[in-house]
Amino acid sequence: MAEAATAGKSGKVVISNSGLLLSGDIDRPILDADTIVVNDGIIIAVGRQADCDIAQPHLLIDARGTCVCPGLIDSHVHPVFGDWTPRQNQLGWIESTMNGGVTTMISAGEVHLPGRPKDIVGLKALAITAQRAFDNFRPGGVKVLAGAPVIEKGMVEDDFRELAQAGVGLLGEIGLGSVKAGDEARRMVAWARKHGIQSTIHTGGPSIAGSGLIDKDVVLEADADVIGHINGGHTSLPEAHVCELCEKSSRAIEIVHNGNEKVAIAAAQTALQLKCPHRVILGTDGPAGSGVQPLGMLRMIALLSSLGGIPAELVFCFATGNTARIRNLNCGLIEAGRAADFVFLDRAQHTAGRTLLESVQLGDIPGVGMVMIDGIVRCGRSRNTPPATEAPIVVGAGH
Ligand SMILES: [Zn+2]
Repeated sequence: MAEAATAGKSGKVVISNSGLLLSGDIDRPILDADTIVVNDGIIIAVGRQADCDIAQPHLLIDARGTCVCPGLIDSHVHPVFGDWTPRQNQLGWIESTMNGGVTTMISAGEVHLPGRPKDIVGLKALAITAQRAFDNFRPGGVKVLAGAPVIEKGMVEDDFRELAQAGVGLLGEIGLGSVKAGDEARRMVAWARKHGIQSTIHTGGPSIAGSGLIDKDVVLEADADVIGHINGGHTSLPEAHVCELCEKSSRAIEIVHNGNEKVAIAAAQTALQLKCPHRVILGTDGPAGSGVQPLGMLRMIALLSSLGGIPAELVFCFATGNTARIRNLNCGLIEAGRAADFVFLDRAQHTAGRTLLESVQLGDIPGVGMVMIDGIVRCGRSRNTPPATEAPIVVGAGH
């Protein structure tokens, strides 16, 4: 195992005895399976133990009846460099969030960098640098997809081509820079899309002094791939406008922790009523004025399931497979060929819920017993969640 781990490869990993396998796939959220086989960080088999080749693993994990869920994907974060955030001048926030079950984070712009450049060559340089830096350095093993430029007036199609060729695949939230008009945003979104760059728009009132209002008409006209924090970050559009966005747009509906909680529930319920639950994705929009929330994703899941009355197994898909599909990521689903990024969950000790899913539906946060990224164990029992009733154990390493 040591050799394999040094090479950054997990070798063969077998996870057995899972009591509940959440797939991340909203069309089939619970799998009839108890065993996962991984090779070099990629899932190669999922099924009943008798049907899987579990011989001679480098690492054998007994899930001890706990739930295995795809690692959570935070669709909306604002990283800067390394594991530091200037927003709350805090160190270690990404690794701490991994202890909350998050294995992938997606930048909505490195906007908190002190002295952030706003000229076009400067913003491109920052985006490319951030993309490279987080590609080379993963705090706690977390995959941080960063390098999300905040677009400014004066950018031309060649700028988007250049960014794409340099490896930039995301735009920061539209509206945080000088581009705030619908027609201008729409033109740049189209250039980004043509060159394979995904776009997100800030929705709602200003986040901090200096940013502006983006109303429903601008969101609809801009037509970005993701309706970023549809429930505001923090200040929401009127609930009726949010429901109108869900109905009139076909783009992703992103709901965040650092937004309006009442409207979060309304947006998720509207998506279900419109029969498009696959469009709902979750994020934290942290770090923010409200702080850094290592359990923000789990809190969103518990909020939407309990107060929103949405079955917990569906809400877990909002935080995993839905995001993976919308953002073209090779994680977020438990199926052969996907990255072996998992969070092992169990009902928290002394919750009133008799099962993990029931505890979440009652509003309790689950306990994280282990987190795995690319087939490598990144933490055992979380230092942040309430203790899981049962936790997986490593029963064998070697071969
Ligand atoms: Zn925003």
